[in-house]
Amino acid sequence: MNRFAGKTAVVTGAGSGIGRATALRLADEGANVVAADIAADAGRETADLIADAGGGATFVEVDVADLSSVERMVDAAVETYGSLDFAHNNAGILTDFVETTEVTEEKWDRLMDVNLKGIWTCLKAELPVMKRQGHGAIVNTASMAGLVGMGGLSSYSASKHGVVGLTKSVALENASRGIRVNAIAPGPTKTNIQSGLLGGSGAAGPASLRDRIRAAAALVRTAIRTLRADFDTSTMRDVPMDRIADPEEMAGVVAFLCSSDASYVTGHTIPVDGGQAAD
Ligand code: NAD
Repeated sequence: MNRFAGKTAVVTGAGSGIGRATALRLADEGANVVAADIAADAGRETADLIADAGGGATFVEVDVADLSSVERMVDAAVETYGSLDFAHNNAGILTDFVETTEVTEEKWDRLMDVNLKGIWTCLKAELPVMKRQGHGAIVNTASMAGLVGMGGLSSYSASKHGVVGLTKSVALENASRGIRVNAIAPGPTKTNIQSGLLGGSGAAGPASLRDRIRAAAALVRTAIRTLRADFDTSTMRDVPMDRIADPEEMAGVVAFLCSSDASYVTGHTIPVDGGQAAD
């Protein structure tokens, strides 16, 4: 398929996980991709993977918490490829799995700066370009934690609820301008971010798959306990589909939301969660 030929996409957090999978998918469908990440080596590797496969890609180093850095990223996209058709505002971090009273002010501030302000900085820089063009499709990465509360992850959950609200509001502001703004709410997905759940700072190093599954399962059970205090979670399946998602399964939904197949979809957060939200 070459449905995105001649289009330009910016993907933040493109050096790893869901962002890398989206960058590869959009490029595979013909888009030129600006692979943006705070981690230069990882981001450059994504751009190289796309180039090796014959696609168009440029790496840009960005800290989404810093508006001027994000503005440089958008400028680079327009200067290099002449337009900005799609944006996957995806970069995010996770915090320690602790009670709200144990969250430090420093960690609260950085989490909000990256996960919530980092979406706003992207929207602020991207929308003027899309308004001038008269079209654009934006997909923000929220989380299942943006749809339900999660004990032990309150700052993360608060930041992702913010992403959902921002997505709805910005979609309303731009609905009549040919610009669509949606979000995905991933369930547990096989990426590096889950190492943060295993305690410490998130710099604990690669977790074993078993540990990751345990951590993700704990997350899901916590979410359900938060919603349904009377519910016995000890015997229930953690994810109705009984598995953790691959990042490519998120990328497919992002590609759909960018495409003209989603031409009448705006302001929504789509759970991509193996059925968790259906419970
Ligand atoms: P990941 O850690 O594999 O990738 C995140 C990427 O974002 C990394 O390459 C990292 O360098 C980059 N990044 C971090 N801070 C940044 C900053 N300030 N500026 C620019 N780039 C930055 O994790 P992932 O799971 O692919 O996460 C992508 C998004 O998906 C995040 O927003 C995360 O909250 C969300 N999410 C993930 C899961 C999951 O289970 N993996 C579930 C729900 C939501």
